[in-house]
Amino acid sequence: EKYKAGMKKSRNTFSGKINDLIARYRKVDEDFFEELEEVLISADVGVMTVMDLIDELKMEVKRQNIKDTKEVKNVISEKLVEIYYGDDDEEIEAINMKENELSVILVVGVNGVGKTTSIGKLAHQLKKQGKNVVLAAGDTFRAGAIEQLEVWGERAGVDVIKHSAGSDPAAVIFDGIKAAKSREADVLICDTAGRLQNKVNLMNELSKVKRVIEREIPDAPHEVLLVLDATTGQNALSQAKTFSEATDVTGIVLTKLDGTAKGGIVLAIRHELNVPVKYVGLGEKIDDLQQFDAHAFVYGLFA
Ligand code: GDP
Repeated sequence: EKYKAGMKKSRNTFSGKINDLIARYRKVDEDFFEELEEVLISADVGVMTVMDLIDELKMEVKRQNIKDTKEVKNVISEKLVEIYYGDDDEEIEAINMKENELSVILVVGVNGVGKTTSIGKLAHQLKKQGKNVVLAAGDTFRAGAIEQLEVWGERAGVDVIKHSAGSDPAAVIFDGIKAAKSREADVLICDTAGRLQNKVNLMNELSKVKRVIEREIPDAPHEVLLVLDATTGQNALSQAKTFSEATDVTGIVLTKLDGTAKGGIVLAIRHELNVPVKYVGLGEKIDDLQQFDAHAFVYGLFA
């Protein structure tokens, strides 16, 4: 239901266009597929993903001997889900958490994508599941970032470990680990700086932070979540490429899906970068974070 409400914009555009296509064509032919290709690309599904999807669709249509475009709609949604999961059998890819041990989640992403908000929402969600959560204010660079994280910490009812602005992020995260351990916390969520003007700087900073974490807990960080803004479309895809080169991204948090008609970017990210989308942001409030579920997502696009 959250998906349905949050994806209204994507659904209105996407579903509307597909229904229009189906009504106009009736018969499944080359022209139909060509226009379908355009609809998918305009929803930011990504050119490579669309090509693969259309190939799959054509084969399936042939296999099932489908002639009527009305019957194609179900096949499209099935194939969208399939292309999302690829060869994986896993349906929902939950975040990696240790049992009875501290889990460390590193959160990366460019300024303005919704990183702080997502950390607050995630802290709230984990706390609701009974976990003891601590936040580390590792974005010491952006003005106001520490205070903003504190506001979210208060909302979620979790502690925030911080240093003063401008200090070394790795030192903050080191203290975060110490504090989380001494409080016997279940999860430490680490914010990081989001400036992307220089890829070398970004890589250096992230690798320093990772080194500090690994020194304290050898198998950590257990997740490196990259936050991307769905409304930026193909730009989000290129950010994902840059961050994947700078660090081992284990999952995506895709924010502002409620603010775009181009939700198809989810499929492009998974298909082209092979990084799973673990959470989606469907609004500005603390409860507006959902674990990503491709079935619910595709249902949100079509229903
Ligand atoms: P940061 O610079 O990456 O830490 O970004 P913020 O967390 O400050 O978020 C930037 C803006 O995006 C804020 O106005 C948030 O309320 C908004 N925002 C974050 N996530 C979502 C979302 O899922 N949906 C919507 N509609 N707005 C969001």
